[in-house]
Amino acid sequence: MEARIVAWLQRLVQIPSVNPAHAGPTAQTTGEGAMVTVLAQIFGDLDADEIIYDPVLPKRDNIYAIWHGSDSAVALLDVHLDTVGVEQMTIDPFGADVRDGRVYGRGAVDTKASLAVALAVIEAQVRSGAPFEQTIMIACTVDEEELGSGAIALAAWLRMRKLRPQTMIVAEPTECRAVYGHTGLVRLWVHTQGVAVHTSQPDRGVNAIAAMLPVVNAYIAEHQRLQTTTPAALGHGTLTVSLINGGRGMNIVPDACRIGIDRRVVDGESAADVQRQLEALAAHASDGQATFTFVTSAEALYQDPAHPWVAELCLFHGTTPTTAPYGTNAFAYGDIPHCCVVYGPGSIAQAHTEDEWVSVAELNRAAAWYRQWWRVGSEPNA
Ligand SMILES: [Zn+2]
Repeated sequence: MEARIVAWLQRLVQIPSVNPAHAGPTAQTTGEGAMVTVLAQIFGDLDADEIIYDPVLPKRDNIYAIWHGSDSAVALLDVHLDTVGVEQMTIDPFGADVRDGRVYGRGAVDTKASLAVALAVIEAQVRSGAPFEQTIMIACTVDEEELGSGAIALAAWLRMRKLRPQTMIVAEPTECRAVYGHTGLVRLWVHTQGVAVHTSQPDRGVNAIAAMLPVVNAYIAEHQRLQTTTPAALGHGTLTVSLINGGRGMNIVPDACRIGIDRRVVDGESAADVQRQLEALAAHASDGQATFTFVTSAEALYQDPAHPWVAELCLFHGTTPTTAPYGTNAFAYGDIPHCCVVYGPGSIAQAHTEDEWVSVAELNRAAAWYRQWWRVGSEPNA
């Protein structure tokens, strides 16, 4: 199986799928479109019972493949197709070189590795002629590295189909550990308006930067308050005023100011509630002057780590459940899956790097778990 996993991974790495938000001159064709075209062919060759295109963005469809099983359980893998950019790389991003027990290239670990493992495991089962017990669904999603719109579309599709997977993996490099939690976030622009006049007579105008000051102070105080609350399983929420723009010239009273804020959301909080709180705080601090532009929000992931399937995964690899400091597509799925973890071969330390790689040993470990998860194959555990 190892040779097949590596061959699949090389084929996937050789198809550029740079997220357009990360595109540059050497990225070649950007977007996930070429990957989707090839995957439709592959899923057909692997006798998928259903192949579904789910439109998300122009020329950027999610593609889903389903192999029907004999019982009613559904196991769902969400694997994102896009990668970050390649402009800073010191290796051939699409060469897919194999040396020293590693596969190199953009997406090798984040996260074409998981898709290659899944394809090899499905391929072995289909070629063996043995039926599937569970229904297996591979959901290939777009736009994870920017806005997560592929994950939002998948969540909507699952709700529309009334499909609640018993088990779900969101593929990311976790060194084959089960990630049961990560924070969510809320990002907003907050605006204040002023009236521009010459700075020789500033009191004739209204200074938008001065109007923003109490809002900034209120948010700093809110961050400090959050650190004194009882911590959730994922710790404390945080709030950072991370951007500020305002003013037009040294001799003009500023007529506009805006700040960008990033609030990390923990389990037990809802992103929508947090957004309302942030807007109320600014409205109060600015005497109702502040206005808002919503940027993005995502719910935290929190899966009870004592769930039997999480325990089974951890026992299989001899690991313990863990949390992640980064966010994933899991922000979108809420209570749709009965049990959901983030999992995949390779380390996040190699993701987005100038010489991205994944070790073949990690690919084998993940394939062994996939065979147990999907109740397929008979090869001994790697
Ligand atoms: Zn990723």
